[in-house]
Amino acid sequence: MVNDKNLKVTFCSGAGTVTGSNFLLEGNGKKFLIDCGLIQGEEPATDNNWDEFPYDVPSIDILFITHGHIDHIGRIPKLISEGFKGRIISTIPTKEITEVMLADTAHILSRDKEHGLDKIYTDENIKKALDLWETVEYHQAINVDHGFQFSYKDAGHILGSGMIEIIYNEKKIIFTGDLGNSPSPLLPDTEIITDADYLIMESVYGDRNHEDRDTRKQKLAQVIQDNYKRVGTLMIPVFSLERSQELLYEFDSLVENERVPSVVTFLDSPLAIKLTDVYLKYGKYFNETARKIIATGDKLFDFKGLKETLETEESKAILLVPNPKIIMAGSGMSNGGRIIHHEKNYLPNKNNTILLTGYQSVGTLGRSIQEGIKSIRIQNEEIPLRAHVEMISGYSGHKDSDHLVEFVRNTADKVKKVFVVMGEPKSSLFLAQKLRDNLGVEAYAPDAREQVTLEC
Ligand SMILES: [Zn+2]
Repeated sequence: MVNDKNLKVTFCSGAGTVTGSNFLLEGNGKKFLIDCGLIQGEEPATDNNWDEFPYDVPSIDILFITHGHIDHIGRIPKLISEGFKGRIISTIPTKEITEVMLADTAHILSRDKEHGLDKIYTDENIKKALDLWETVEYHQAINVDHGFQFSYKDAGHILGSGMIEIIYNEKKIIFTGDLGNSPSPLLPDTEIITDADYLIMESVYGDRNHEDRDTRKQKLAQVIQDNYKRVGTLMIPVFSLERSQELLYEFDSLVENERVPSVVTFLDSPLAIKLTDVYLKYGKYFNETARKIIATGDKLFDFKGLKETLETEESKAILLVPNPKIIMAGSGMSNGGRIIHHEKNYLPNKNNTILLTGYQSVGTLGRSIQEGIKSIRIQNEEIPLRAHVEMISGYSGHKDSDHLVEFVRNTADKVKKVFVVMGEPKSSLFLAQKLRDNLGVEAYAPDAREQVTLEC
């Protein structure tokens, strides 16, 4: 039935792949974008980042941002350079995280003259974006004319992360963004959705489950104790946003409750240090346990032995500090950042340990380490890997397959269709099948650039 009230969704990118979230919602004379993220990973996929957007940029009314990960915000400067002049809306912490993240990314990308990024990733374009930016609290109604009402619900993924809820013509549409692996040490649980008509949901772990989350802290304590006994160096490659703060919080609790010995611990990542400052500012968005600890006067991310090394010289001097010691440094998959230097120094010794706490994608150094390769190449040098390799997958920032199904179960009676996006094809297809089989809902994994109609 033809109905002009119907809405259209175009999966511009972020369908059939984990990164590059960018969806267009249009109808009743309005055009909205959900996220404007960078496609990450290996070439040639990343070359698509700098193609023209598949929509008329100046005619977009509002860009809604789900959260501050770069695969959700990284192409905002490009949107500005193509003439975007609408509104940008997010939660309060997301705006501040975005400022830090875009400045950091600009530092790297603005050197890329080949793709003209020196003219796109400019301070001026970033400033223009921030000037257009409005912030809201969770659940605050954002009225848009033409009968649309928007609001954010807590996704529990990183600080400030939100699902976008759209009410239009008495129908409810939810774009989940990334969904947190609740319960998280720091954040409230993902809010439950019971009455969505349409769901556009992530599926990073659509085909896999995590190990038990209850054991993650215990395992972390064990790794710290073992390193202490061996008088070694414990390296933890960390993602600067959320994982670093989660781990600092776990360390804080383990050290202050004397479950592990106090060991000198370096947070050796300028980006993580800056983001931790943002987290400190927004304690009111943490879960009840964390808020209660703050109320007792505890600093939450600061414990005996912690040292932040902002400057390069301070980072280099870590080598001179006697063992046992712990180093947290970026990047989380060892494909760059200061961790590389530490790995070169410490991987050859069997008394040392490397602890992986997140997903390691194919082709990264972290993946090679995870697979237990005996010798790895770092900066053209062959490095023997004799250090202990430990893994804790319970710290993932994403819901696993079973919990994604549980999330949909709450709205299974009402939902007309579930669009499964933001996952590798096999992960998205697996989840769509699982949702059909287990819940009897209509679920579908669209292709990139596909356009669908939402009957409203
Ligand atoms: Zn994310």
